[in-house]
Amino acid sequence: MHPKINHLIQLQELTLIRTEQKAHRHGHRLDELESSIRALTEQLPADIQVLMARMQKRDPIITVPMANGTCTGCGMKIPTSLVQAVKVSSNLQVCPICTRILYFQDGLPRRVGAAPRRGDPHKVGIARFSAPGLMISKLEASTRDEAIRELAQKMQAEGFVDDAEKLVDSSLRREAIVSTAVDNGLAFPHVRGVEGGGLTLGLGLSGKGIKFDGYDKALTRIVFFMVIPTAASAFYLKVLAGLAETFSDAEARKALLAEESPEKLWKALVKLTKKTIL
Ligand SMILES: [Zn+2]
Repeated sequence: MHPKINHLIQLQELTLIRTEQKAHRHGHRLDELESSIRALTEQLPADIQVLMARMQKRDPIITVPMANGTCTGCGMKIPTSLVQAVKVSSNLQVCPICTRILYFQDGLPRRVGAAPRRGDPHKVGIARFSAPGLMISKLEASTRDEAIRELAQKMQAEGFVDDAEKLVDSSLRREAIVSTAVDNGLAFPHVRGVEGGGLTLGLGLSGKGIKFDGYDKALTRIVFFMVIPTAASAFYLKVLAGLAETFSDAEARKALLAEESPEKLWKALVKLTKKTIL
């Protein structure tokens, strides 16, 4: 693998986190993120900096894992010779279709479950990537890690992902960079780079509140847990912005927290996000 790949992955993650922080009304740690991004960018060779600047204009996702011989950025099959080169070559290899930089990574968590079939009822809004079965109206968790595990296990139990523990690991690594807890008792833990399928969202409520190690140290009561395949990265940022907009409103948070069953919670979520998540 090219020696700069880890560097590029780290830089991309920070750039995405900066976009996430900007989606919230009070994005925290933006200065810190800006300077880390600047420092990492300056350390790159000039030709890679130029390549990145050009690609970033189009899409925030520039560096993507290869999975089962497929580019996870565009979903196209990669020629066998290139698959080998990505695995062993010390040169940067790019996808011939979408021109994203490819790298090899084993053991990604996988999104499973049936793809929508022709004739299935047409879904709109949040119902396209979430379901009543992914709602937890009363989280048992009393810590951040337990809450993430509870939501990940729900996703596995409902047949959306293959391995909850992989999601937990990956989600906690993301929390370690900058907490996904934001103001107003909201948190948005997530896992990026999941193999296959589409974006998946689970929601858990905590009546007593969970210490999520957020910036303002307030307790978290509403936890949105998202699993994001590489190809859905840009869409995820839109969903995040939509959720942040809806739930910056105290009435919306109150309405959600009042629901005591998964079914009612689901109905409330669909209704409240009707205008912000299209
Ligand atoms: Zn591609």
